[in-house]
Amino acid sequence: MSTPLLELRDVAKGFPVRDALGRRRGAVRAVDGVSLVVPKGSVLAIVGESGCGKSTLGRLALRLIEADQGQIMFEGEDLRGLSARGLRARRRDMQLIFQDPFASLDPRMTVEQAVAEPLRLHGIVPRAQETQRVAELLSRVGLRPELARRWPHEFSGGQRQRIAIARALASQPKLIIGDEPVSALDVSVQAQVVNLLQDLIRELGLTFVLISHDLGVVRHIADRVAVMYLGRIVEEGPTAQVFGAPRHPYTRALLAAVPGQGHANAPLLEGDIPSPINPPSGCRFRTRCPYAQALCAEQLPPLEGLGHVAACHFQGSLPPALAGQDVDTGGERLRRLQAYFTDQTQKQGELA
Ligand code: SF4
Repeated sequence: MSTPLLELRDVAKGFPVRDALGRRRGAVRAVDGVSLVVPKGSVLAIVGESGCGKSTLGRLALRLIEADQGQIMFEGEDLRGLSARGLRARRRDMQLIFQDPFASLDPRMTVEQAVAEPLRLHGIVPRAQETQRVAELLSRVGLRPELARRWPHEFSGGQRQRIAIARALASQPKLIIGDEPVSALDVSVQAQVVNLLQDLIRELGLTFVLISHDLGVVRHIADRVAVMYLGRIVEEGPTAQVFGAPRHPYTRALLAAVPGQGHANAPLLEGDIPSPINPPSGCRFRTRCPYAQALCAEQLPPLEGLGHVAACHFQGSLPPALAGQDVDTGGERLRRLQAYFTDQTQKQGELA
């Protein structure tokens, strides 16, 4: 088997919790023993409710924040073992696209300056070729090159996210992590940016980690899905299997919460996510799980399965997840949007 582009091994990260006087009052285990494999050229989606640790995990994977334990293997090399200089050299291979395109671009830089910055930082092209390369990158993301002299505030949210994608592509990365890359955009623009990301992934052979709570987008774009709950992976597998036959009660509940994605026998998700400062003993989902039994409070369920794994003591004896006939509606919504906006784009010509 070839070396995965990215592999997380038992990665954990806690943040101290302090009172009003600054005294330490505990710790939040934001990510707690996560292992994941991301093969080259694949798209892995990490999904879960707000506060489950998925954004922290994305930043740990890029070593933008330091893990407390575990290994972060990039092409077989542990990023945690790299010196500051070695990490800087690796940075060109790994990029992050943020959720908010209004916050991710420096308002004091023109588009050309923003996109050229990584070119210069990593010595991608000689200075004399920067303008040409920026023009190519803008074209690649569907923007007219003559817009390069404009300022970020002159663009719409969708256009700004395209600029952020061009900037991410500038260093010719092998891995891009998109942290909710379309969730701040209008639903109409989301489909355009999802299409763009899909094209780039396919044409450039990118490896992509999508952090998202939008299961419609995830279903459309991801090869595999990892479901997180309170800092731990509770289910992971091929997208079609996780959506078609979810094994963990939490995954079923998440799908049930999305119109058209529900399964028969899926519990509705009730109650708030427990405090990560003091998570439930045993299975962390037990306080919201309709199938919880005494064992669930005593023992942490391990991830079990072959290719499609879930962490539930009773995954073999739960009522079967019976996919409804309308289970594809989330994907259908995106397909309709894409068809509509492809049509609109053709009519209007250039997006910008
Ligand atoms: Fe529910 Fe128990 Fe399975 Fe956890 S281990 S998901 S509480 S049945």
